Amino acid sequence: MITLSNIHKSFGPQEVLKGIDLTVDQGDVVAILGPSGSGKTTLLRCVNFLERADEGQVQISGLTVDCKHARKHDIVQLRRKTAMVFQHYNLFKHKTVLENVTEGLIIAQKRSKADARTRALHVLEQVGLSDKINAYPSMLSGGQQQRVGIARALALNPEVILFDEPTSALDPELVGEVLAVIRNIAREGITMIVVTHEMGFAREVANRVVFMDGGSVVEEGAPEEVFSRPQQERTRQFLSRYS
Ligand code: ADP
Repeated sequence: MITLSNIHKSFGPQEVLKGIDLTVDQGDVVAILGPSGSGKTTLLRCVNFLERADEGQVQISGLTVDCKHARKHDIVQLRRKTAMVFQHYNLFKHKTVLENVTEGLIIAQKRSKADARTRALHVLEQVGLSDKINAYPSMLSGGQQQRVGIARALALNPEVILFDEPTSALDPELVGEVLAVIRNIAREGITMIVVTHEMGFAREVANRVVFMDGGSVVEEGAPEEVFSRPQQERTRQFLSRYS
C-alpha cells in the first residue's frame, strides 16, 4: 500500500537518508527503531512531504509522487492520505478539544460542522476523552493532549497514520495510557508507521520492525525475529542497551 523507493535526504553537507526502500502493507503496524540521529523522524516526515526528499519516490495507495519534481497538487493529494501524530502534540492552544478535532475535517475535508462534530465525538470517545470535549489543551495532562492528537489524526480516516515518537515528551507515568490508545487503534487494522523508543510496545504491537542506523535500514523483520535473533551487529548493540 505504501512504497518508499530510494529516499535520499541531505541537510547541507550531511546526508541523513542514504537511499531508503520500504514497503508497508495495508493494516501493517511498522515500528521504526534506531539510535538518535539515525534519520527516523526525517524519513517519517518525507512520507508526507513535511520534508521534501532530494531523490526517490513516495507511493501511497495508487498515487506515486516523485520527491524531486513533486508539485503542490501532488503533495496536497498525498497529504490527504496521511495523518501525523507529533511528539509535542501540536494542538491549537486557543481551541477546545472538540475544535482541535473538527478543524481538519471542516477545513481540509470540507465537511459540514454537524458532520465534523459527530465524527469528532466518535473518535474522542475512542481515545477516552468524551468528558473533555470543551477543555482547552492547557487544562489537560500531556497524555490527554496526545490522545487529542491521536483523535485528530484518526478523525481524518487516513490511509496511514504516521506517529513521530508519540510518547517521548511524556512523563513516564503518562506513557501507558497513550500506548494503550495506539494499541487499540492498531487492533482496528489501521495502517501505522511509528517511530518509537518503546521497545516493549514495538515488540507487542508492531507486526514489522525496521531498524535504522546512519541513514540506512540495517535490518527489518517480524518483531520476534529482530528482537530475539537480530542478524546485524549494530542491531544487537542497540537492543542490548534496552534489555
Ligand atoms: P532520529 O529521528 O533518528 O533521531 P532525525 O531524523 O531527527 O533522527 O535526524 C537525523 C539527522 O538529521 C540529525 O543529525 C539531525 O540533527 C539532522 N536534522 C534533522 N532535521 C534537520 C533540519 N531541519 N536541519 C538540519 N539538520 C537536521
